[in-house]
Amino acid sequence: MQIPFIDLKTQYETYKEEINKEVLGVLSSTQFIMGPQITKLEESLARFTGAKYAYACSSGTDALLLALMAIDIQPGDEVITTPFTFIATAETIALLKAKPVFVDIDEMTYNIDPKLIEAKITPRTKAIMPVSLYGQCADMDAINAIAEKHNIIVIEDACQSFGAEYKGKKSCNLSTIGCTSFFPSKPLGCYGDGGAIFCSDDALGDKIKSLLNHGQGKRYEHKYIGINGRFDAIQAAVLNVKMNHFEAECQKRIEIGNRYSKLLEDASVITPKVMSDRNSMYAQYSIRVKDREMMAKKLNDAGVPTAVHYPIPLHLQEALSYLGYKKGDFPISEKVGTEIMSLPMSPFLTTEQQDFVVNTIKA
Ligand SMILES: *Cc1c(COP(=O)(O)O)cnc(C)c1O
Repeated sequence: MQIPFIDLKTQYETYKEEINKEVLGVLSSTQFIMGPQITKLEESLARFTGAKYAYACSSGTDALLLALMAIDIQPGDEVITTPFTFIATAETIALLKAKPVFVDIDEMTYNIDPKLIEAKITPRTKAIMPVSLYGQCADMDAINAIAEKHNIIVIEDACQSFGAEYKGKKSCNLSTIGCTSFFPSKPLGCYGDGGAIFCSDDALGDKIKSLLNHGQGKRYEHKYIGINGRFDAIQAAVLNVKMNHFEAECQKRIEIGNRYSKLLEDASVITPKVMSDRNSMYAQYSIRVKDREMMAKKLNDAGVPTAVHYPIPLHLQEALSYLGYKKGDFPISEKVGTEIMSLPMSPFLTTEQQDFVVNTIKA
């Protein structure tokens, strides 16, 4: 049985009529930049998360960059984050010539370990950027408390966790700024690149809105050096349709992820642990296996695609070697990186497909 890793095809087929209609509507309107689709999307993103402001932008990476620009990160500033994430998290810090300062992860959740953060705070620390990895929020209350004590800002990299809840509140609305991605494979994916930035502070909201459009306030009046970080109206049209179905998709994700964990209980793999005060969107359903290469080969041969998120922690990446970290600095990230393996996952994964994946693992 050949199983898709993320079933975007079935998703499109399911919403096809609505999506085609909205996208064609944008084409006939010729309103490609800004306009009513963007406004509608931003309103529904804000309503969904409970954040006062939501700004759609060009990608999750740009969302992180804009968030750092909005809090005025300067060369030499330090931003504390996790090494067990996608490069974009630290890349945006480094692009601004600030310094990513890594803190190891918690072995249960794979998110930054709040207990290790305070030891890394210096007078140059300006922000903490936790990642809500695989769709489960980091321990945001603990992180916010540390930040408050030291008067620094928390930016949630929620690129994998849009839709997730932490203590009854939505991811993206758990700290000063939240950033998400609409890359096609993320929980809320568009049909190209996209992202959004969330906050509830008026001044910060104004600044973010301006920065993503060349630092403009009024047209051709530029208050800041910004970027072209706008989102496309065609992509907004896709998301405006998907938002109508998103709540249901989140429920399916939770059901399917939990079903994987239940079925794999007696297999010799480590399943994801979701803390009792939050849920997971299972942006990736990632298990840990001792002999990953062998397991991946057997699964791939049987028609089950797998992936590794992420094989090399950021402190061991060549692009960040100038930071001076070495092997052994973050033992949990390194260990998890050698064992982690993602299985096919999407709200459209059938029980038949899932049973096949599980039975192949057990065999
Ligand atoms: C996907 C992702 C990003 C970047 O988002 P893009 O939309 O691809 O730019 C950043 N951080 C994390 C944790 C991600 O998973």
